[in-house]
Amino acid sequence: MTYRGRFAPSPTGSLHAGSLVAAVASWLCARYAGGEWLLRMEDIDPPREVPGSAASILAALPAFGLRADAPVLLQSQRIAAYDVAFATLREAGLVFACWCSRNDLAASGDMHRDGHCVARPVANRRPAWRMRVPDIDVSFDDALQGPQRQSLRESAGDFVIRRVEGFYSYQLACVVDDAFQGITDVVRGADLLDSTARQIWLQRCLDLPMPTYRHLPLVMDAEGHKLSKSTQAFPVDATDPLPALRFALDFLNVPTPAQAIDADALMTRALEDFDPALLPHCSGHSSS
Ligand code: GLU
Repeated sequence: MTYRGRFAPSPTGSLHAGSLVAAVASWLCARYAGGEWLLRMEDIDPPREVPGSAASILAALPAFGLRADAPVLLQSQRIAAYDVAFATLREAGLVFACWCSRNDLAASGDMHRDGHCVARPVANRRPAWRMRVPDIDVSFDDALQGPQRQSLRESAGDFVIRRVEGFYSYQLACVVDDAFQGITDVVRGADLLDSTARQIWLQRCLDLPMPTYRHLPLVMDAEGHKLSKSTQAFPVDATDPLPALRFALDFLNVPTPAQAIDADALMTRALEDFDPALLPHCSGHSSS
């Protein structure tokens, strides 16, 4: 099977150093494997969206030498596919409607478990829809972090796949689209390691293939906080791409030549010297 990787940003701010690292690493792994690299804009959460950021992220990537092999897939155009997946889960009795509020769940640590609702159905109010999560452990081998094992019931509980407002969750949309785009390998930040068990569970319920996962250590700021688009931390400058690109390659343990070259030439050189075995691993997680 041909390697197919992807970069799947959410339009919640400009590209920052942390997401550039994920973009560069996923691109290098795909090119190294002689495979394809695809883009997906995860624009299915309008309340969190920052106007203009989808366009700004997509415009910035080529300046860093990152060009996709197919037109970008917009999740906002994929609602019909999520409707089909939702209907499949519903017909199989794997989801249930839930009117519980945060207050209702406070006593159980904000966790919904065993399909047990505290709140009763409310007429004229739309419910959220949750997966009915069994008491099982999901195990997988992360190609960077090594063997992982997570109790779905303890770590996620009955997780939401469609919110009260009618928006589908990241977990559902991501799984449906990784399969739709034929993604064989997911390279992303370790902040999503915890989501992976839920995604694997959804893949099993929907009979979808499971990609290989590589979770990269997170880029931290000087105070040890994760760089995130939502805090506007360290936006990278697409008009002067080399400093951020050198930072990303350095973080990924890819040697870079000292002399000044343009971004495309730098990425070509980086690919020549790239060794996936040297990618950084997270501390604090088991690795093989
Ligand atoms: N859209 C997610 C983010 O920007 C990443 C999703 C993924 O790579 O699975 O954090």
